[in-house]
Amino acid sequence: MINSIDYIELEEKYGAHNYHPLDVVLERGEGVWVYDVEGNRYLDCLSAYSALNQGHVHPRILEAMMNQARQLTLTSRAFRNVQLPQLYKELSELTGYEMALPMNSGAEAVETALKIARKWAYAVKQIPKYQAEIIVAGNNFHGRTISVISFSTEELYKSDFGPFTPGFIAVEYGNPEALEQAITPHTAAVLIEPIQGEAGVIIPPAGYLAKVREICKRNRVLMIADEIQTGLGRTGRLFACDHESICPDMVILGKALSGGFYPVSAVIGDQDTIGLLRPGEHGSTFGGSPLAAAIARESLKVIVEENLIQNAETMGNYIVSELNKTTSDHVKEIRGKGLLIGIELKPEARGARRFCEVLKQEGLLAKETHENVIRIAPPLIIDRPTVDWAIGKILDVLQMP
Ligand SMILES: *Cc1c(COP(=O)(O)O)cnc(C)c1O
Repeated sequence: MINSIDYIELEEKYGAHNYHPLDVVLERGEGVWVYDVEGNRYLDCLSAYSALNQGHVHPRILEAMMNQARQLTLTSRAFRNVQLPQLYKELSELTGYEMALPMNSGAEAVETALKIARKWAYAVKQIPKYQAEIIVAGNNFHGRTISVISFSTEELYKSDFGPFTPGFIAVEYGNPEALEQAITPHTAAVLIEPIQGEAGVIIPPAGYLAKVREICKRNRVLMIADEIQTGLGRTGRLFACDHESICPDMVILGKALSGGFYPVSAVIGDQDTIGLLRPGEHGSTFGGSPLAAAIARESLKVIVEENLIQNAETMGNYIVSELNKTTSDHVKEIRGKGLLIGIELKPEARGARRFCEVLKQEGLLAKETHENVIRIAPPLIIDRPTVDWAIGKILDVLQMP
């Protein structure tokens, strides 16, 4: 038998070092719990960055996946399959958008939305060819492809990887005036996260998203919301944009669209955007495969039928109010919407990582984001006794010197 230390050694020796994981080697997961090779149990408070809203190895999604895997896994989009049209219809009925374009990873779906926005800029808004500009927010996170890191403002994500894709302008997040000032006759779209998860669970001022929606409409600019992390129930609404009752022109989904089984992403929108693409202009071998579509269909049903959206709101509000009772000197601010919660520590606390290491020893897996923030984002199926257990652990660990 080989143990955690051996696995870690193998990984460090043979794998690229583009992550700095906590040293826990997981072998099995069930619901909100994961188990390491030594049999220790941990509460997963990261949920694979919100890909596991439905919990680990959800039995219904597992069954849908196995059934489809026995039938037909991949056709390519050169042929049609029976699952994809049903996913389209169910996504439309759930979200109110007319159409969808399926991809695999989140970053690919972001790229797809950007391509559609550029196409719209030339075909509809009549912006002179190749002059289209897309406005993004400072401290954004939209994935890791060359074009996507081209408009990152994080040195670590981009500095060694130029030359960059032109056509993007970053403005301050949460500041509608800055956004409006950056709009020119060549602006095609604004791409925004309703809450910036990777930046440290940054929640914009109330009314910001509604203001962005209004500014975009008035200036004839598309609003694109990246809901890859915030969508599908995570914040206590189907979409985080629902908190301000707005509908962006396009919404980007990923992560929990597959309940963590398989990479599935999509861009959803109406005929006037998604409908612009012609055969051959975009595609993906695996995007929209019958296996992916079957998994996504069941993943969406689980979110709705198990009331995960409501549970995220109830449990999230409760966690934030309980954590706010902390007397720890380390804590600067606790913020959250639904089950996307950030505990920001003061700079003197010497980083969130050491708290995550101790939480791990206590049986709770969370990951620091941006030095000083502990992100707490368990699967949305979490129940009240487990929440109470987690709160106790977190409050204890925050008391350490
Ligand atoms: C995770 C994430 C992405 C990228 O998704 P991948 O599947 O890792 O490519 C993009 N945007 C946001 C907001 C994310 O959280």
